[in-house]
This record gives sequence, C-alpha cells and structure tokens, in this order.
Amino acid sequence: MHPISHRKHKPIHFLHNPEPDSLPQDVESFLRHLGGPTLIIIDGQDNSRCRGIATLLHGNEPSGVKALLAWLRSGQTPAVRVICLIASVQAALHETLFYYRMIPGQRDMNRCFRPPFDDHQGHIAEHFMMLLDQYRPEALLDIHNTSGMSPSFGVVTYLSPEHDHLVSLFTQRIIVTELRLGALMELSTPDYPIVTIECGGSDQPEADQTAIDGLHSYLFREQVLHSEGTNELDLYRHAVRFELVDDCHIAFADQPVAGADLTVPFDVEKFNFGVIPALTRLGWLGPRGLSIFRVCSAGGENVLPHFLLARSSGLYSAQRLKLFMVTTNPAIALSDCLLYACAETEHIRPPA
Ligand SMILES: [Zn+2]
Repeated sequence: MHPISHRKHKPIHFLHNPEPDSLPQDVESFLRHLGGPTLIIIDGQDNSRCRGIATLLHGNEPSGVKALLAWLRSGQTPAVRVICLIASVQAALHETLFYYRMIPGQRDMNRCFRPPFDDHQGHIAEHFMMLLDQYRPEALLDIHNTSGMSPSFGVVTYLSPEHDHLVSLFTQRIIVTELRLGALMELSTPDYPIVTIECGGSDQPEADQTAIDGLHSYLFREQVLHSEGTNELDLYRHAVRFELVDDCHIAFADQPVAGADLTVPFDVEKFNFGVIPALTRLGWLGPRGLSIFRVCSAGGENVLPHFLLARSSGLYSAQRLKLFMVTTNPAIALSDCLLYACAETEHIRPPA
C-alpha cells in the first residue's frame, strides 16, 4: 500500500477511437460497457480543431447518448476531433434504466460546475473542466431531454451569433437565461460558446430524431459557428423559475386535492412554449396561498406578483406569459422548479 499518496483518483475514464464493431448496439449494454463517466475521443479529418459534446448529465435523459452511440457505431469520421462526455452512467443504470435524474441522495450533476467540488459529482465536474482546458474545443453542446413533453429548444447564457448558430443546428427556439445555478453552459464566454440543447421529452420519438439530426450537422459540417443560411429563432429571455418551498405538498390532478398546498392539472403541459393571456388558471392553491412559491429575478428580487396571483383559491397568471419546461413530475417540481416563465418574446435573425 502507499499511504503517503494522496493523489486524487480522477473520476472520468477515457475511450479513444473505439472500434465501431466493438460497441454494443443496445444502449443499456453500451452504458454497462462504459461503467462510469467516460470521455470518448474520436479523431476527425482535421485534428487541429476540436468540438465537445456532453450528454447524460441527467440519468433519465437518453436522446443524446442514443444518438452518440448510433454515430459511433457508424464509424463515420467527423470534420474535426470530437470529445464526448457521457456523464451520469451510474444514475442511468440505477435500478431501472433511464429512470433517475441522479442517484437518490446525490447532487444534480448539472448544478455542480462551480465550487465547491467536494463530492463525487463535483469531482466529475472539476475533472471535465480540466479536460476542456486541455482539449480546448471550439464549441460545446450539452444535450438533454425535458422532464415533461415539450418541443425542442436551446438554452444559452450569452446571446451571440455563435451561440445562435449552434442552437439552430437542433431547434429554432432559444432561451437566454441570466440565472446561475452551476450548470455546464455557465462556463460559456462570448468567445467560447456552450449551449444546452433540450431535445424534448425522453418518451418522444421526435426528441431522439432531433438529437440525431442536430448531432449530424454538428459532427460533419466544416463550420458550426457560422450560418449556412438564415435562421429565424424564437427568442425567450429574462426567464424566471417557479420554485416551490421545500415542505410544499404538490398534487397533480384535474380538480383540487384536499390537503395539497398546490394542485396542478396534468394538462398544464399543453402550455409548454405557448402564450397564455393574463388570468389563465394554472391550478388551485391550498390554505398557504402563494407563500409556497419562490419567484425571483436573476438579481434575486421577488417578482412573484408580476407573474402569479391568487383569486378565491385559484392560481392565475398575472400577465401575458410564455411558459416552458413545465413539469408534471412532483419530484422535479419540488427539487428543481415547476416551470419557467417569460413575460416577453421577440424574434431575431442572425446575420447570414
Ligand atoms: Zn437535463
């Protein structure tokens, strides 16, 4: 034994240019083959450049890893070197395949890209950040699925033509967020675009197709930061999160549930990326009223009254809103948020 060695074990394994035929066709077997967080490195036509992909940060969001596996098995050489992080392999395999966002008791992997890095998820994040410094990709995609049914969209922390072009490889909806939660895309700078791609719900076949098509463009195009045409993107900005207090009792049902602090009808998902007018009913409140909600601006100011109001135990929109990432999963509603809302939208046309 070597008791004097305190060198920290690096959590991410490496797989260089795997032989396409050696990879299992089935995604579960592929994940078992990887066994843990893995960086796959594939040489391209031009290895002086590199592009990055991260996926499966959330263990229940398979579209990205399924698309990656299909490409890896095809053996097609990408335009430039590609590094792919497949992160929460253990969470994806925990008990039921693609069931857990993270292993119960562990932190959300996509909230760990800022200090402290002192647990397993933090070590993975820190190691990946080191690898990004080493490989210096010209762009990085982080591919997710939404927790409910949803159309596809991209999320960015900066608005720039490069960020727009990356998102437009996958989808025409783009969300600019000022919120800082420790997500991977927050490492982005104006010169180093990192975008989050939400392909849609994990049960939706079109989400898998979005991942396949977008990935194909990202892998094989000579340029991914400049447009090959004109894209009109549907822009959402200044989004806020409808968070719930920890001890909130939330129910999903089509009529108010006795004893619940909040009852949300299942069909609230139909509002995803739709515009709702003021005074649209979003659910029913219990005796604690609106006090179960936390709705803050990026600056931390309480902006709840701008977004929500209560009328005789009904929960209503306080103004015309666009909603997205609406979930009907109570665990996600409580641990993350019920939905995101914007009070404005506009169209942008990136320069050709
Ligand atoms: Zn996710």
